[in-house]
Amino acid sequence: MEAEDARRALPSVDEALHQAAVRETTSRLPRPLAVRVVREAIDAVRERLEDGGAGEPVEGLVQAEVRRRAEELAARRLQPVINATGVVIHTNLGRAPLPQAAVRAIAEVAQGYSNLEWDILSGRRGRRDTRIEPLLQALTGAEAGLVVNNNAAAVLLVLAAVARGREVIVSRGELVEIGDSFRIPEIIAHSGCVLKEVGTTNRTRPDDYEKAIGPQTGAILKAHPSNYRIVGFTESVEARTLAEMAHRRGLLLLVDLGSGAMVPSEAWGAGSHEPTAREMVEAGADAVMFSGDKLLGGPQAGIVAGRRDVVQMARRHPLFRAVRVGKLTLAALAAVLDLYLEGRVTDVPVWEMLHRAQDQLLERAHRLAEAIRQRLAGELEQAVTVRAVAMEAEVGGGSLPGAALPSAGVEIAAAGDEGLAECLARALRLGRPPVVGRIERERLVLDLRTVWPEQDEAVAEAAARAVRACRS
Ligand SMILES: *Cc1c(COP(=O)(O)O)cnc(C)c1O
Repeated sequence: MEAEDARRALPSVDEALHQAAVRETTSRLPRPLAVRVVREAIDAVRERLEDGGAGEPVEGLVQAEVRRRAEELAARRLQPVINATGVVIHTNLGRAPLPQAAVRAIAEVAQGYSNLEWDILSGRRGRRDTRIEPLLQALTGAEAGLVVNNNAAAVLLVLAAVARGREVIVSRGELVEIGDSFRIPEIIAHSGCVLKEVGTTNRTRPDDYEKAIGPQTGAILKAHPSNYRIVGFTESVEARTLAEMAHRRGLLLLVDLGSGAMVPSEAWGAGSHEPTAREMVEAGADAVMFSGDKLLGGPQAGIVAGRRDVVQMARRHPLFRAVRVGKLTLAALAAVLDLYLEGRVTDVPVWEMLHRAQDQLLERAHRLAEAIRQRLAGELEQAVTVRAVAMEAEVGGGSLPGAALPSAGVEIAAAGDEGLAECLARALRLGRPPVVGRIERERLVLDLRTVWPEQDEAVAEAAARAVRACRS
């Protein structure tokens, strides 16, 4: 067909929307989005025709273009995925999965009205930020506490509230970058404070801090190097020593704890010890800031636990209003904190996953490998190797860097087919539900530490479908 004829044969938006194939691919889209997708698809095909003819009937071209665009839109929507990476706190995959109790608490508060900013006892206006305070006091031993949108906001707010216009002393070994542009030096600059670096990358001594303190000093900040470790010839100063020094000189010690475990992580399967908020409070920190959705295992939030006057300054600062949390976050966080207060640590999914025993994961891996092989019975079963293997998982999310968790899962490979792992990873990603694995030594690896047993069936199905798609 000539390009001119092909262009004339293009359907109108309305005509295309009536074609069965188009109706089906756009059936999950709200009508205005479906119309837009179809219009853009027709325009794209028209442009292609102008650039040089069509090899096939335009109707098919438009339908293929609509399908591609509709799938792209669907893939971009927020949706559940199966995490078979073995990284328990995976920032790209939404960090901590919430406990059932937190999900229920969200639903209860979400559906109706609540006492978010209303005091039941007096019948007058109340404060949203005091709802969580008693729980934080009980868990951390701090005099006071508040919650904001995330830990980056907590650090920014506290610095701005207590040390604006003055110097904040930080060790060069702790000038952390967390990813996605959270960098301690930049946060300090944006809080209106002046960074005063001390020590060296690998060694900072008490004397370095001591010498840096002057009339301009507002606070000492200790940041937990949460996603890296400095090993070898190293020295850093303990929070207790820094707190004593700060207090002797009339200064505050602020601690950016990052993950903020509530329980001794070594006892719950996380490999090594992650400092807890309570330890920092007991060491004398005036404010400790940590995330709600890392090792705490709750919703995205930033928590400040500390001295009453310091927390009060943060609460009164104008930034506080800009970084406050909504009722859904408060409901979820309270439910998670209750679990810790009741000692129900493994009801928090992050800890349940960290706590899983490798031999049980290996048992599941054997069953999963078998289930995948069964689904491939016949030709493909010979073409690829599907086997259960022991492996190492990570905690992730800026917690316990370098601590490897003994884990287990399934590995899929084919001799002489180097592209297979990439192909499988892609097919799994685009499946429904998407499954995210890892690639190791040109093999696709599905780590079961972060997969729930109820999801094994879906993983088997997805893996078999991916193998078929990549080997046919
Ligand atoms: C993760 C982390 C942050 C940022 O916390 P968000 O809750 O992601 O804003 C800040 N500081 C440290 C040390 C961290 O590990």
